Amino acid sequence: MEDLRKRVLSWIDEDREVFLEFLGNFVRAKSPNPPGDTREAAAVVEAFLTERQLPFRTISPNEVMPNFVGTFDGAAPGRHVVFNGHIDVFPVGDGGTWTQDPWGGKIVDGRMYGRGVNDMKSGTASILFSYMYLYRLRDQLRGRVTMTAVSDEETFGPDGARYLIEHHPEIHGDICLSTEPTGIHSVRFAEKGPLWLKFTVRTPGAHGAYPHKSQNANEIAARLILALDEVRHIEVDTPKHIAEALAGVEDVIDKVASPGASKILQKVSLNIGTVNGGVKQNMLPGVCEVTADIRVPVGVSPDTVIELARSIVARFPEADMEVVGRQEPLWSDPNHEMCKLIQRNVKELAGFTPPAIVSLPGTDARLWRGKGVPAFVYGVTPFNVAMADEYVDIEEVFHVLKTHTLSALDYLMANG
Ligand SMILES: [Zn+2]
Repeated sequence: MEDLRKRVLSWIDEDREVFLEFLGNFVRAKSPNPPGDTREAAAVVEAFLTERQLPFRTISPNEVMPNFVGTFDGAAPGRHVVFNGHIDVFPVGDGGTWTQDPWGGKIVDGRMYGRGVNDMKSGTASILFSYMYLYRLRDQLRGRVTMTAVSDEETFGPDGARYLIEHHPEIHGDICLSTEPTGIHSVRFAEKGPLWLKFTVRTPGAHGAYPHKSQNANEIAARLILALDEVRHIEVDTPKHIAEALAGVEDVIDKVASPGASKILQKVSLNIGTVNGGVKQNMLPGVCEVTADIRVPVGVSPDTVIELARSIVARFPEADMEVVGRQEPLWSDPNHEMCKLIQRNVKELAGFTPPAIVSLPGTDARLWRGKGVPAFVYGVTPFNVAMADEYVDIEEVFHVLKTHTLSALDYLMANG
């Protein structure tokens, strides 16, 4: 076993240039979502798999958003590890100024720059290489390995991992590993559940000089928005396992998810994303629409939040509410064997133990958790994700590749 681990580590060290060349090509193949046409970047993935004669198939419910699934069996039966990564990336955006070509994949001072290099082309490159190394070892492996590289993640669209999970149960496996950028100083075992609500306030409306004729929809919406603050104070019944995992690691949470994150991790958070009301300065608005993005922590049911929101809306007879999107907060056991393996490998490779914490943003890992499959996320530090000059620290990329490959190997070879 120690021999297999050493071989994997030496392959990764030997392949540094090959890996970086692949990643550069992958970044230069644009795949912004929206619009979500990933064919150019998918061609880079397909060439990688074909040239190395790795088993794979393409599943494309939407022809411009191909998904790759590869599976092979080891020499003896055993457990099934599934890797997950995505091919699509955020758009370049118009905020901030890039000092590097967003589609250049250029290396400067130990960093590679480009849109999506961090979220998550370096992570997806990592799972492709893990898959290749484990395939080379197949005659000595137990169990099964599956690689999924999907399109349509950034907009939580239906044609990527969600399609595979619903229509291809053979990819569920016994454990899911994701390389989404989390920061190398923590492992993620859970995510908050997004709950999207839309409120509409309707009044007759009037000429701006006749405010006595109608109530003002914008003013009612303003009072409603302030009243919605109550959802932030819903009591959270954090499960014991999770409370124990999170106890005493507030400083790590603040470090990896920005200062203050530890305070909202186990609270209901509320963001009033849009307010649209009125047509014209001298008309009294008759319609105002408000959207809210609420994030529900583990230990609260989205139903509790919806019920409270409905009772708040009931105080404003002119307002109604619609549930636009709803996902349960889902978690895997932070004491799971795989979580421990990741922590042990990071300790061995980098000298520290990353605590298991809850993720603020959502990832496709939730889809596996939703099917009862434990899923853990461990990836590079999210430098400038969705901002100008997105980059990865190259040493972190290789650290993540080593951690995932070794952890999958350990899991497959443990206990028989
Ligand atoms: Zn991502």
